[in-house]
Amino acid sequence: MLNLVLFGPPGAGKGTQSENIINKYGLVHLSTGDILRSEIARGTDLGRKAKSIMDRGDLVSDDIVIGMIDSKLDSNPNAKGFIFDGFPRTTGQAIALDDLLQKKGTGISAMIALEVTDEELTSRLLKRGESSGREDDKNESIIRNRINEYNLKTSPLKNYYSEQGKFHSIHGIGSVEQIFKAITDRIVFLNAEMDLTALETDIEHLDLTIQDFEVANDIAPELLLEIDAIKRAEAEEAEEEKENKKIARKALAKSSSNKKPAKKTVVAKKLLKGSAKKTAKRSLKKMVKAKTVKPKKKAVVKKSPAKKIVKKKVQVKKKPAKKAKGKKKK
Ligand code: AMP
Repeated sequence: MLNLVLFGPPGAGKGTQSENIINKYGLVHLSTGDILRSEIARGTDLGRKAKSIMDRGDLVSDDIVIGMIDSKLDSNPNAKGFIFDGFPRTTGQAIALDDLLQKKGTGISAMIALEVTDEELTSRLLKRGESSGREDDKNESIIRNRINEYNLKTSPLKNYYSEQGKFHSIHGIGSVEQIFKAITDRIVFLNAEMDLTALETDIEHLDLTIQDFEVANDIAPELLLEIDAIKRAEAEEAEEEKENKKIARKALAKSSSNKKPAKKTVVAKKLLKGSAKKTAKRSLKKMVKAKTVKPKKKAVVKKSPAKKIVKKKVQVKKKPAKKAKGKKKK
């Protein structure tokens, strides 16, 4: 957005040059003097309050003009940019304008100041008074008061904008075309400067992106290997756990039919909790193998009516199994 403050004392040619700038750049023209005069013409409360102040050549209060600008900014949401003419006129107004624009995500691009001597201004304004019909242009003492107000309250804004690196002085004496050419030359420079800043921001961003990309590219093979290894380890672990649980379930099923809790039951429980190791699994497998057939026979024996005999038979059958297991381990 191109937002310009067209600056200069009364009679510097701000109105005339504003028109030229608007025609060339399609900016929205916001002139607080024009808005106030239209309020007076419509006989509004604001207009009635402002009239006597303006007729004296004094400045209308900051609150009033800031409020006017705020509502004009709101009613032009799609503007390509604004040209502020006769506003801001005090440091308070300049600060308020910065705040308003910042809220809208923009800011002042530049202040273009038309520099004209006091003598030239007075003669121009008196001449304008003959045709403009403006009360404040007719009387020399009122004109002098306006110029004084400017020098006292408005002129310090040059510092405000030059501190922000936005102050551009234009020699305001010469033909309308000459002055307009000086202004457009400055706008070309400003646009180029804004494009450059945007480009620099893009490049900065691109730089970061390239750096990120390079880092990512450097570590990518390592990362991929690591991810691969983790995936494989996880798959192995899951497979192992699945098998362990299968074996453990079988072992538990067997042991539940066995009155004496076998070693395999303890190991199986551990396995089901996922805490058993490979060795436990192997020994469990052996135990299961060694006992798979025999307990089945025990179950058949259980069905016999004599409990004592069953117990004896079970004890007898268990002993050889344990011995066999011990031998295998060695
Ligand atoms: P202008 O048409 O800009 O010369 O303004 C005419 C008169 O309107 C001034 O002399 C002030 O009385 C009043 N005025 C216009 N703009 C402002 C402003 N930004 N702050 C205070 N008063 C203003």
